[in-house]
Amino acid sequence: MKIHEYQAKELLAKAGVAVPRGIVAKTPEEAAEAFTKLGGSLAVVKSQIHAGGRGKGRFKEEPEQAGVVLVKSAEEAKENAARMLGNTLVTIQTGEEGKTVSTLFVEEGLNIARELYLGVVVDREMGGAALMLSTEGGMEIEEVAEHSPEKILKAPIDAGYGLHTFQATKLAFELGLEGPAIRSAQKFLPKLCRFFLDNDCSMAEINPLVVTGDGELVALDAKVTFDDNALFRHKNFEELRDLSEEEPAEIEADEAGLSYVKLDGNIGCLVNGAGLAMSTMDLIQFHGGEPANFLDVGGGANVDQVTEAFRIILADANVKAVLVNIFGGIMKCDTIVEALLSAYDNIGFSVPLVVRLEGTNVEKAREMLESSGKNIITAVDLTDAAEKVVGTLSA
Ligand code: ADP
Ligand code: MG
Repeated sequence: MKIHEYQAKELLAKAGVAVPRGIVAKTPEEAAEAFTKLGGSLAVVKSQIHAGGRGKGRFKEEPEQAGVVLVKSAEEAKENAARMLGNTLVTIQTGEEGKTVSTLFVEEGLNIARELYLGVVVDREMGGAALMLSTEGGMEIEEVAEHSPEKILKAPIDAGYGLHTFQATKLAFELGLEGPAIRSAQKFLPKLCRFFLDNDCSMAEINPLVVTGDGELVALDAKVTFDDNALFRHKNFEELRDLSEEEPAEIEADEAGLSYVKLDGNIGCLVNGAGLAMSTMDLIQFHGGEPANFLDVGGGANVDQVTEAFRIILADANVKAVLVNIFGGIMKCDTIVEALLSAYDNIGFSVPLVVRLEGTNVEKAREMLESSGKNIITAVDLTDAAEKVVGTLSA
């Protein structure tokens, strides 16, 4: 689950991590008021969307307008806010459709001496959380990793204790920090790692992490993602969720207990089991097709859930064919066919449907399919199924 920058900063501040002072604004007038309240001569107006790259991003409706701007007066804050609110911001992370900005965060402008990169991730090699730092603040970490990987410092975070002071001190020296900035890092880095652990984050990225003119480390940007599997431990996070940032079909699927991820292709997939779903998508691609989604109905889905799954797949206008691939274990093949036939009648299939079934009750299920008299293409195995579904598109 992703949250907005202003929400992340509020949580970080509570955890004792230094962030700039800021005020949320939903109208141009509120942005002007926020500038005045902050009381400085410089403020930053920041679009709140679940994507980075806002500073370099531009609005579709206002091609000159950036998603993050420095302003020097309340009037300027108001004018920029008017060009941002309600408009669509396109950044390298949003895709070309962009994201609508409905909230702004107005922040005090800081006196920046250095910009660093900080990211906490779950690291496969280290087998746990790891703190990454780099002197290349403001740059995409993927780019740094590709062109100058030696500039990325990495330290393991003890899952129980957090980051030790000696680790923070060593990293501060390696980053070339001096005097008060070293002392600031000794506080900032362990607090941030503690925040990551205490909130079951899957990612916390501070890019840039700045060193101010006074040698103070401050989180200038904050991108925080929580581990969905741990959300039950943090009931208070529910109110931080912004459903307008999420794919509507994914929200519906989530409510129906289905694992669904929308993709860009045109072959809808209904599969039981995540592994089988992945290999089905691989095979579709291998045979020249593009999956429209990942959909795992799970091991014990019932007729209602499967019907809902069909409804979600068929509601996607990009879907030009559907492949059902079921390996009946706990899930019985006839349950799938029952749902499939009822979906066929209730929702209607206007696109070709290829079905491959194997496992528990497969004979009964095949019989049901055959005697239904419906226009359904059956396949004997996974390769056959992939070939047939891709074939319906070129036919
Ligand atoms: P994004 O990563 O989405 O582009 P950031 O929050 O990193 O957004 O902001 C982009 C840039 O704007 C930063 O790299 C920094 O140079 C500048 N900036 C952001 N917030 C402030 C601030 N409070 N004071 C001064 N400069 C800022
Ligand atoms: Mg940033």
